[in-house]
Amino acid sequence: MGLLNLFRRTPTFRHGVHPMEHKEQTAHLAIRRLPFAPTIYVPLAQHIGAPALALVKPGQEVVRGEPIAEAGGFVSVPMHAPVTGIVRSVDHLVPTAAGPKTPAIVIDTYEASTQEVLYGREQDLSTLSREALIEAVKASGMVGLGGAAFPSHVKLLPPEGKVIDTLIINGCECEPYLTCDHRVMLEQTDRLIAGIRTIMRATGAKRAIIGVEDNKLDAVQAIREKLPEDGVISCEAVETKYPQGAEKMLISSLLKREVPSGGLPVDIGVAVYNVGTLAQLGELIPHSQGLIERVVTVSGPGVGKPGNYLVPIGTPLSFLMDQVKSSSDANEVIVGGPMMGMTVASLSVPITKGVSGVVVFEQAAEDQRERPVHPCIKCGACLDACPINLNPSMLGQLASVRHYETMESEYHLNDCFECGCCSYVCPSNIPLTQYFRIAKSVNREARAAAA
Ligand code: SF4
Ligand code: SF4
Repeated sequence: MGLLNLFRRTPTFRHGVHPMEHKEQTAHLAIRRLPFAPTIYVPLAQHIGAPALALVKPGQEVVRGEPIAEAGGFVSVPMHAPVTGIVRSVDHLVPTAAGPKTPAIVIDTYEASTQEVLYGREQDLSTLSREALIEAVKASGMVGLGGAAFPSHVKLLPPEGKVIDTLIINGCECEPYLTCDHRVMLEQTDRLIAGIRTIMRATGAKRAIIGVEDNKLDAVQAIREKLPEDGVISCEAVETKYPQGAEKMLISSLLKREVPSGGLPVDIGVAVYNVGTLAQLGELIPHSQGLIERVVTVSGPGVGKPGNYLVPIGTPLSFLMDQVKSSSDANEVIVGGPMMGMTVASLSVPITKGVSGVVVFEQAAEDQRERPVHPCIKCGACLDACPINLNPSMLGQLASVRHYETMESEYHLNDCFECGCCSYVCPSNIPLTQYFRIAKSVNREARAAAA
């Protein structure tokens, strides 16, 4: 059998774009640990849902891995100390990638500590009930590490009447520059399989499919070599195309099922997890430990030492930039990938659980990116790019006159998952995705004010 047949990829979704990948800077670099910053800032709201509630007080000593905040509701997760040190504050305001400041627990790191994780106890997962497994996932503080930051345990409890038959594991990593999931698939394959087994038991899913873009065939091979013989877990190569890693697109590519407008994957019997999330769960749950660090790709023309770094949650970007020798004229730092990520205004923003990458551009690249905005020329390129067949041109025109409600009621604004394809192809440089983000936020605030 030829190599092409061995890795024959599944047919894919319609539309989408093919941006330059820029992954060669870091794809071959093994994961390395970053030093511990002298001060760590753990935001209480770094996931979708209610912020966590602090369990510690200023002046208190904490051990690396110890719970320092409890979940603030069902859609919420606890936080664990990323370092051994002393709590300086529990309500210090730190800036976020989205802009507004949020309260954080500040810990001064003990320089002399080995930073060994001493917290946690071994547990035999085979003896745990489904409920106990779900509780263990919640206690780990795990959220979607692919960027969604959705609490992982919530997906394990489908609403009444819904059944999860298939687990989809997202190993696409379709954003340019990012390679942390690629490295996790290559270096943490056993953990990944263990995490998949755990989540299959917790959901009751009968099968699991790992979807990997076909620009990472070494990862497909590494995973296939480790797959259990019972055949319930498979690994499929899918076409390299942006946004293949968006959950609706991946489900469509692998299962030919469509998530209904306004619906969720569970509506069609599916739960989607990122490979990094499951690899972490596979490692943490058997030791009853919490999420305290994650792999982050740091890359881009403004980085002297690009790589995939194991970074403690709460590490400030300023410290990270020093460690990777970010150039002094770097003036655009994006948290996430360049398609869906956000440009940060301050390097005081800490690394949070959902941050998979930091991409740094220099002045020259920035100039190229900041081209003037022209009126819409009705070329239709954005309609051809939108993977879910929205009308970004019309949405953009409505946004420019602030008809935000019409965008929602007549043009399916809320189905837009801000993939950035329309902005990417627009010859007039209209920041369509940014408009849609603002429109959604204005509508959300208007609804909250009216409630
Ligand atoms: S309208 Fe939304 S979903 Fe469609 S291409 Fe633009 S950002 Fe992506
Ligand atoms: S791609 Fe830009 S210029 Fe072309 S139709 Fe869409 S919004 Fe208008």
